Amino acid sequence: MKDVLRYVRDNSDDLIADLQRLIRQPSVSAKNEGIEECALLVSRMLKKSGINSQVLRLNKGVAPVVFGEVMSKKNPKQTLLFYNHYDVQPAEPFDLWDDDPFSGTVRGNRIFGRGSADDKGELITRIKAVEAFLKTTGDVPCNIKFVIEGEEETGSANIERYLKKFKKKFECDAVIWEFGYVDSKDRPVIGLGMKGLLYVELSAREPVRDAHSSLAVIIKNPAWRLIDALKTLRDSSGRILIDGWYDEVEKFSKTDLKLLADEPFDEVAFKKEYGISEFVNSKKGLDVKKALAGDPTCNIAGFLSGYTQQGAKTVLPSSATVKIDFRLVPKMDPKKQFARLQKHLRKNGFSDIGIKLYHGEAASRTDPSDPFVAQVKAAAKASFGSYVINVSNAGTGPMHSFASVLGAPCLSIGSTYIFSRIHSPNEFARIDLLKKTTQCMCHILNNFSHA
Ligand SMILES: [Zn+2]
Repeated sequence: MKDVLRYVRDNSDDLIADLQRLIRQPSVSAKNEGIEECALLVSRMLKKSGINSQVLRLNKGVAPVVFGEVMSKKNPKQTLLFYNHYDVQPAEPFDLWDDDPFSGTVRGNRIFGRGSADDKGELITRIKAVEAFLKTTGDVPCNIKFVIEGEEETGSANIERYLKKFKKKFECDAVIWEFGYVDSKDRPVIGLGMKGLLYVELSAREPVRDAHSSLAVIIKNPAWRLIDALKTLRDSSGRILIDGWYDEVEKFSKTDLKLLADEPFDEVAFKKEYGISEFVNSKKGLDVKKALAGDPTCNIAGFLSGYTQQGAKTVLPSSATVKIDFRLVPKMDPKKQFARLQKHLRKNGFSDIGIKLYHGEAASRTDPSDPFVAQVKAAAKASFGSYVINVSNAGTGPMHSFASVLGAPCLSIGSTYIFSRIHSPNEFARIDLLKKTTQCMCHILNNFSHA
């Protein structure tokens, strides 16, 4: 391991140069800008590091998945898979950037650019960890696979199809997730899971066109109609009122509760960051962390109806639309929850409310007692000196697709500093963390192979 870690230390300039090359190739999935070019670049970069690579495709119009693979000579029985994405968020608004977002400018300990952290920075640490083993030992501690998709930032619409089609090719014993945060005290956060998501749109219509608001005495207002329906979904404490919504939700285990208690969360700093004085339902302490990791939500993401421009307009709108995201927790099936929502509206006399399903995705959580967790913890300790365990991210990713199709534990750990401004102008990656994380990935491969 000594030589491997030294190789990482001695070749960090090369890591930065390759990350700059990746950043300089725009790959904005939302606009289909540079996707094909970036996939080919990533594939070439894998090969340059000694990793076999193939560009996999589904039908036309679907971004390719870049596959990478190295078989281990001494340990061909175990396989670790790295999941990453080569696409990035749009860089707009450009005028808020200090540099060209696709320049990869280095200033001090920071490399700036769209994708510098999310997710090209994460990807490069993993490629370089594998390269370090190949260059110093001529072998890798276990088989290694890379699945690098190009539609993550638009919702990973096709990753499950890829996983099913190439199930055999992607077969593995454990997965390292695409992102991983380093907290404000420079501790890597080992994430055990992610919440699921059900995204819907509800709509109400009444007159065929907008009407004079004096007619509100005789024409029903669809905005009120929609609000009446919405009020039946959730109470003011945040509890969802749909029949059966919580039927499959399990309580936290003792181990989970202990992990949650140990997880740092700075309530004062968090409230300051968002300019709020209290949390939903006046939650405090452990309840805040339990909610973030394990409470389903019913959130209004947007509400559109009538006149919202400057000044007053007395109008009775013809329609009202709301977009709602429900976060789901393990065991909740998005299809079942959608059916429950439909039934709820019918039962409560809201059959006239239109309902459109955008997206459904189940939650995923790795058992904290899985041996892979201990291996990753030891790697984090060896490279960073400490770590934090996060029972579940409050957000959503296609982790369940990986866990269920490949049947492998999934953990997130990476190099992204918590205030790296991902998805925002002046996104950056910290160079010290890129180096440390590359070494951490080396330890993960090594620990995994010795288990
Ligand atoms: Zn992202």
